[in-house]
Formats: sequence, structure tokens, C-alpha cells
Amino acid sequence: MVETTTIVMYPAPSIGHIISMVELAKLVIQHKISITILLTTGFLDHPSIDSYINRISTSHPSISFLRFPSVTVTHSNTHSLAATAFQFIKTNAVNVQSLLRQITAKTVINAFIIDLFCTSAMEIASAIGIPVYYFFTSGAAVLSLYSYFPEIHTQTTASFKDMAGVQIHAPGNAALNATLMPDPVLDRGDPAYWEMLYFCEHLSMAKGIVVNTFCELEDVAVKAVEDGACFPDLKRTPPSVYCIGPLIADAQQSDEARHIKDCLSWLDKQPSRSVVFLCFGSRGSFTVTQLKEIAEGLERSEHRFLWVVKRPIQDQLGVKQVHDTTNDFELGSVLPNGFIERTKERGLVVKSWAPQVEVLSHESVGGFVSHCGWNSVLEGVVAGVPMIAWPLYAEQHVNKNVMVEDMKVAVGVEQREGDRFVSGEEVEKRVRELMESERGSEIREKSLKFKDMARDALGEFGSSTKALANLVQTLNGINH
Ligand code: UDP
Repeated sequence: MVETTTIVMYPAPSIGHIISMVELAKLVIQHKISITILLTTGFLDHPSIDSYINRISTSHPSISFLRFPSVTVTHSNTHSLAATAFQFIKTNAVNVQSLLRQITAKTVINAFIIDLFCTSAMEIASAIGIPVYYFFTSGAAVLSLYSYFPEIHTQTTASFKDMAGVQIHAPGNAALNATLMPDPVLDRGDPAYWEMLYFCEHLSMAKGIVVNTFCELEDVAVKAVEDGACFPDLKRTPPSVYCIGPLIADAQQSDEARHIKDCLSWLDKQPSRSVVFLCFGSRGSFTVTQLKEIAEGLERSEHRFLWVVKRPIQDQLGVKQVHDTTNDFELGSVLPNGFIERTKERGLVVKSWAPQVEVLSHESVGGFVSHCGWNSVLEGVVAGVPMIAWPLYAEQHVNKNVMVEDMKVAVGVEQREGDRFVSGEEVEKRVRELMESERGSEIREKSLKFKDMARDALGEFGSSTKALANLVQTLNGINH
């Protein structure tokens, strides 16, 4: 009897993590491997998830989805949303166990590829003899920092959020102010800190780690992970590392198809490399005061711009993201009086969403003000567009460090201590620096080099193509 085999993938619940994992699945199935993707239900469910699953299953019959029964968790304001999300994923461990057992009754699972946040599923799979791999949706620098985090944890008893002025040194990373560490590890008083510690302690125990980056982009960080420098006390060989990126998601579905047309036809009318594109990810948002400051900076810079504005947030120290991304708000009421009218010859402001991948690859875009979400960083790199790094949440300050200090594809904005406010003068200064100065030209040149390198990495003999081939070989070679 011929035994069938499959690979099971388990992304974290948010749509961004699901989409990234599906992109990996699309690459792997090209090698005649079937994939089963496990999905949770009940927390962070995206409104478009059902149509997304249908679309993928129809266009890629080798990818199938299994959804868990709904699980309820209650978020309490005494801890972070990440803590609740991690609790939710843990509660789903029983579902992982029962589905893995159901699948193994019919077919051989050659590998279980999980998101970092789904580490609670690692022991379950290992206990039934399934090799576990991580898919790391951020870059190698963050991977190195996280792998080293258990070591940093032993060096202090304080929370990073209270360690202003203290520099964190992790292999493969430029020095980072402790208060800029990724959000979920900032506060030891929050359960998310301890969950992250548990996740990061397990990174070295995986059989392999697949990373959405390419070696040439982050050579120092990739080396730190490959050599095991970021796993200080490891008594065995570090997990194999497969840098298979840049994986860029298909153009995402927006409820506002009209936006797509408006943005692109407006860009068609602008001169080559003249437009600064400002977009802060799926959730990045600002207070009205900050929005007005950005507007003033853009106006004074006298440069052309395409700016995506999300529903503003209330003044709350440290919060830079919005969960209600609907666009029933008036642009006129959140921007300075007369701003849209005064800048209409050289600026376009759109609400909530723009087709970022298409915009970045448009000839008239000459700069990108980004919140440094890893997908946005890769999309900027692939398009060869120089950036202004304005990190807001999650691990984006680490990404900014990499972009500015190592890759040299971006200038960083100065953020005020405490509330991280950015003045209009600073916005103007950085836009002019990127678009007019000698340093801006150097950054543009470097960005164009990385664009070529990204294309080469994915080419027939490229580093990422080789890494994928190695990964597939390992996945196929596993026997139980
Ligand atoms: N995105 C987009 N249009 C927008 C905002 C976001 O197409 O107006 C896409 C962007 O191209 C990227 C993703 O949403 O693929 C955002 O992912 P990223 O990792 O950069 O940031 P996150 O949203 O996870 O903070």
C-alpha cells in the first residue's frame, strides 16, 4: 500500500500571520507536497477569513484547511491583548492534539510547521513523533534577538519598559534601547512576557526554522542564527535555518476597490520617483494632533505625497494601533483646515487602505514612510524604494534598527521620549533628507542594489531558491 504524506502548518490567529504561512504553503506545494493548515476560530477572526480560505482552496487544491471548533476567551484590561491571544492559542492545544491524531490515522505527517506564537503545540507534536519546524514571519535580526532573549532575561530582574538608557546587545543586532524591545516582552508584570520567554526558549528545540528573509539582506543576523551565536548555552547543533524570502503576499482584498483605481491613476499622472508614500500597515494609527503635525510637515516639505490615513486613535500613551479600521470618519475633521484643498495639486490622502504592493512598484513613487512592519519592509526592499522608518508597535523598533544601521535603506524619524510624538519639523526634515540630500541618494542607491539582490535570491540559482530546495529535501526525507 502506498502511504500518503502531508505537512501540517499552524499559523497564529491574526490574518497577517495566516497569509504569510499560506504564501509559504504555496511555495512548498510546487514540490508536489500536500499541505494541511490548522486554523483557530473565535479570537482575532478576520471578516474576510472564510472567503480567503475558499479562494485559496479553490486556486490551490493541494492546500486544505481544517478549522477548530470555536473557543471563547475574555480579554481583561488588566493585561495586554497579546497575553489574551497567547492564552487563546494555549486553550486550543486540545484541538491541535485531536486533529493531529485524526490526520495521522490516515496519513503520515512529515513535518509540523508552526508560528512562534503557537509553541504550545510543539510538545504535542513531538510526543507523537512529528518533527517540528518554525516559520518565522519576521526577519533574521528579530529571530536572533528572540533566540537570545532567554539569556537577556537572566541578566536583569527589571522590566525592559523601566530600563530607559540601558542598551540591549544581541548577536546579529545593532544595540537597542531596552524600552524599544518588542511590545510583548516589555513588561514582566504582563503574562505575555512569560509566554514569550517560553516560546523563545523553544526556538532552539525545533528541527528547523524557516525565515521570511534572504541571506544577502541580513547577512550578519543570518550568520548569528546559523552559527548558533544567539543560542548561548546550546549543547547540540542549532536548528537548520532556511531563509526562503522575500515572500510577498498576493495583493490583498480591500473592501474599497475604488481606492485601488484612484491611487494608481493619480500616480500615473505624477513625475518619475517624485511621490512620498506614507502607509503604516494594517493597524498603524495616530492621534488627531499627530495627524495634523504630519500634514504640516508634508505641506512644508513641498514634495508630492500619497498618504493612507486610518481612523485616528484617542490620546493614550504608547498605543499606536487601531483595531477598528473601518473608514466612516471625515478626513476633513482630522486634518488641518484647508490642507486637502491647499495640497490638491501634489498630494492625495486616502482613507484606511491603499494597494501597497502596487503603489510601491509604481514608477512615480520615490520614497516610503513606513511603520516597519516586516511585510512592509520586504515590500519596500523588493520595489527598491528608499524608506523613512517610523516604527509604532510590535517588533518594529528592532526592524527600524536593522533598516537604518545594517541595511542602510532608510533614515529614521526622531521620536520624542515617552509618548513617541513626532513633530511636523521632523517630518519635513526627513522627507527632504530622503528626497533631496546626498544621504538620500546613497540610500536610494543601496535600495536599488537590494532590489536586484532580492530578485536574484529568488532566481534559479539564488540563495532563497536553494534554501527552499534544501527544506523540501529535508521534509521529504523524513521517515517515521
Ligand atoms: N497593506 C496594504 N495597504 C494598506 C496597509 C497595509 O496593502 O493600506 C498591506 C501591506 O502591503 C502589508 C500588510 O498589509 O503586506 C501589512 O503587514 P506588515 O507586516 O507590514 O504590518 P502589520 O499590518 O502586520 O503591522
